[in-house]
Amino acid sequence: MAFEPEFLDSALAAISSAGTLAELDRVRVHWLGRQGILSEAFRQLATLSGAERSAAGQGLNRARDAIEEAIRKRRESLESDDVQRQLARKRVDVTLPGRGVLPGALHPLTQARLLIENHFQGSGFTIATGPEIEDDFHNFTALNMGPDHPARAAHDTFYLDPGSILLRTHTSPVQVRALRRWGPPLRIMAPGRVYRRDSDLTHTPMFHQVEGLVVDREISWAEMTGLLSDFLHAFFTEGLKIRFRPSYFPFTEPSAEVDLECFFCAQKGCRVCKQSGWIEVLGCGLVHPEVFRQSGVDPGEWSGLAFGMGIERLAMLKYRIGDIRWFYDNDLRFLTPRPAASGS
Ligand SMILES: [Zn+2]
Repeated sequence: MAFEPEFLDSALAAISSAGTLAELDRVRVHWLGRQGILSEAFRQLATLSGAERSAAGQGLNRARDAIEEAIRKRRESLESDDVQRQLARKRVDVTLPGRGVLPGALHPLTQARLLIENHFQGSGFTIATGPEIEDDFHNFTALNMGPDHPARAAHDTFYLDPGSILLRTHTSPVQVRALRRWGPPLRIMAPGRVYRRDSDLTHTPMFHQVEGLVVDREISWAEMTGLLSDFLHAFFTEGLKIRFRPSYFPFTEPSAEVDLECFFCAQKGCRVCKQSGWIEVLGCGLVHPEVFRQSGVDPGEWSGLAFGMGIERLAMLKYRIGDIRWFYDNDLRFLTPRPAASGS
């Protein structure tokens, strides 16, 4: 059987209608493959006589060349379509507005903590840490709050194991741990999370405190008032009036609470200062001899001062934040850069 010319027409038709490279490859195998129609036609040449075979052979060679050429052209055209399609898919519209980059800022609580830390580090304090899951001894007993001490009731403690393991209610246990670990002299501050069962406008079950402790020979009340006045003037506003009001804490003796003149109303009386003209900002005192004894330090030889403050409280006053719970609401505005508020 000779290769019929109409075969060539249908081969060329199949090639030009191949819509994808895969389809074109199937057409190629069908016509030019080892089991393909052309190969079969070449094998049939053997059955022809001399003159016929020569003419048919030349016809087949021309047909094969024509098919190969048609496939090559079709492949080039399909490949370039493919590239065009990919380019179209990845086209960038340069006229669209840019996405913009939103600048962020440290959370106000972090800003306040860093301001406090930096100030006291400048006065020679180092940062100490302790566990948030504490035992009764470090959280209460060693701080002069024995098992029946009434001050324990005010702490609204979260107990993990009643009477022994708890979430620390203040950062003061770090004082005890630091004294027992390093001994005097000592100048440390301990920032960290503390936990109490409280929740309202000014209380959350978790909040942050910074504890400060200085232990040395002959630490005086005057040294403490100087240290804390310097800090408050640096953190809020230079020149604000400060008063030390006698108070009571089990772990200091004498003890004081520190008030700042109300800079919201210039002491005329407002909601923030509860009409008193003064804002309470921290607690302090000279370390109680019993705390020294529980920490293995001789109170006859050493003396110390301690102070503690709530970071939320200070940040609320400095940045004029009205509700403590806003700190934890994940409101993006809290992470927006802004000029630091001044206290006046
Ligand atoms: Zn006021």
